[in-house]
Amino acid sequence: MIDYAPAPPVRGRLDAAASTHPPSDVTLERRTKIVATLGPATDAPGVLDELVAAGLDCARLNCSHGTADDLRRRAAEVRDAAARAGRPLGLLFDLQGPKLRLTGATAERMLQVGDRFVLGDRERPDDDDHAVVDFHGFSGLVSERSEIVIGDGVPRLAVEHTDGGDVVARVVSAGRISARKGVNVTFARPALPAITAKDVADLEVAVQAGADFIALSFVRTGADVEELRRRLCEHGSQALIVAKLESTEGYEHLDEILAAADGVMVARGDYGVTAGLAGIPLMQKDVIARARRAGKLVITATQMLESMIAAPEPTRAEVTDVANAVIDGTSAVMLSAESSVGQHPVAAVRAMATIAAAAEESPDLRRRGLQINTPAEAVMHAAVQLADDVDAAAIIVATATGASARACCRHRPRQPVVALAHDPRVAEQLTLEWGVYPVLTDAADSLDDIVAAALRVGPDVAGLRSGDRIVVTHGQQPGAPGATNTTIVRTLP
Ligand code: PGA
Ligand code: MN
Repeated sequence: MIDYAPAPPVRGRLDAAASTHPPSDVTLERRTKIVATLGPATDAPGVLDELVAAGLDCARLNCSHGTADDLRRRAAEVRDAAARAGRPLGLLFDLQGPKLRLTGATAERMLQVGDRFVLGDRERPDDDDHAVVDFHGFSGLVSERSEIVIGDGVPRLAVEHTDGGDVVARVVSAGRISARKGVNVTFARPALPAITAKDVADLEVAVQAGADFIALSFVRTGADVEELRRRLCEHGSQALIVAKLESTEGYEHLDEILAAADGVMVARGDYGVTAGLAGIPLMQKDVIARARRAGKLVITATQMLESMIAAPEPTRAEVTDVANAVIDGTSAVMLSAESSVGQHPVAAVRAMATIAAAAEESPDLRRRGLQINTPAEAVMHAAVQLADDVDAAAIIVATATGASARACCRHRPRQPVVALAHDPRVAEQLTLEWGVYPVLTDAADSLDDIVAAALRVGPDVAGLRSGDRIVVTHGQQPGAPGATNTTIVRTLP
C-alpha cells in the first residue's frame, strides 16, 4: 500500500489532510458549480474564505478591469484560500477579447430615432453627428447587414453605407452615447482580431499565475478558439478554454466552437446586446443542451442575482432564473458584479448554492439517453447505470486527465462523483464539472489503493457511512488517459 502522506505546498483537497479552516457550510447535496468574479468587494480580509465556505468552486478574474498586479495578487489569494480550505478551487482568467469602444474624446449626447450618425476614423470636435471608435480601420469591419449597438443595447444604429474611413448609419433605437462606451457590431467582417495585444499580455499573466481556465470573449468561430489553443501551447500551458458566446455570429458557429473548446459560457450580457434580450432564453437552453451532448462544460452567466449588488436577498425572478439554468442542466452558474463590486458577495454565493440544491430535485435533470461515442464513454455510462441499480451512495472515479470524470458527470448521475486525481491541475480543472468532487490523492496504483483512498475521503467529501455501497471505476493501466475499463461495487465496512 502506498503512503498518502501529503507533501506541501498544498494545492487541492488533500487526501487525509486535516483542513485548518472552520467547518464550511458547503452542502454535499449541491451538484451545480458556482463561479464568482473577484474584485474590490472580495478584497477585504476574510471575504474570500467566506466565499469558499459558502460554496465557491471557481474564482473568475476579469481581465477587463484592474491591473496586471491586481490579477497576480488575486490569483495568489485564490491559491492560498484553497490551501486553507483544503479543497481545490478553479482559477479562471477571462480575456477581454476584441471589445470595441468609443474614444475618450467622445462628447456625451442623445441620439434620436431617425438621426443620421457617422462613426469616423478622425476626431471632428465640432461635428455633433460624429464619433470615433477606438479601432484602426473600423469602417472595414462593418457590412451592409451590420447594426452597431452602443453600451447595453441603445442606441442602436443600422449601417447605411461606408465612405472611406466613415461609417454612415441611421439611429433605429434612441439612446445616449458617451466616452469609452462599448460598441458591438453585428455581422462584423473577420478583420477584427480574435486576440488583441491586451489579451496577449493578459494571457502571459494568466499562464504565469497557473490559470486552470482561460475564457475568451466574443468568440466567433472555431478558428478563434484554435488560435488561443495555439498560444497556450506555445506557453506550455494546459489551461482549458471556455469560449464565451456573446454574439449572434458565435451562436451560429456553436458546433465548431464546441468541438474546439473545452467549455462555453452563455454570456447573456453581450449576447443580449447583439441579439436582443428576448433571444436569450432559447439560446441559453439550446447551448446548454448541445454542450452537454458534446460532453463540454457550460457556464450560465450575467445578471443572475443582479439585485444583490445592493440588496441582501435576491428577487423571486432571480431565484427562478438561477433555478431554470440549473434545471436546463448547466454545469455552473456565475456571479459577476454581484460578487466583484456588490455589497453582499458572500450572501450571493450562499443564495446560489441554496437555489441550485433545491432546483436539482427536478426530475428533468435525470433525463438520460445521451449518445455514447467511445468505449471509455460506454464504461462510464455503465458505471452510472450500475450506481442506480445497486443504489450506490457515490461513484468513485480514478482519473488521470479528468476525462473519465467528465464522461461520468455528463449523464448527471444521482450520486456524487468523487474524482481521485493525482495532478493538482486536473483536480482544479474538475471544479467546474457538474456533480464532481475532485480530491487530490497520491497516485493510486491498484484497485485496492483506490478503494482504500475512497474509504478515507468518502465520509468527508461525499458523506459516506458504514454500510453504504460505492461504485468504483479504474483502468488496468492506471494513469493512462482513457484507459478506464473496470467497474466494481463495494460495500463500506
Ligand atoms: P463580460 O461577459 O461579463 O465579460 O461582459 C459576460 C457577458 O457578456 O454576459
Ligand atoms: Mn461579455
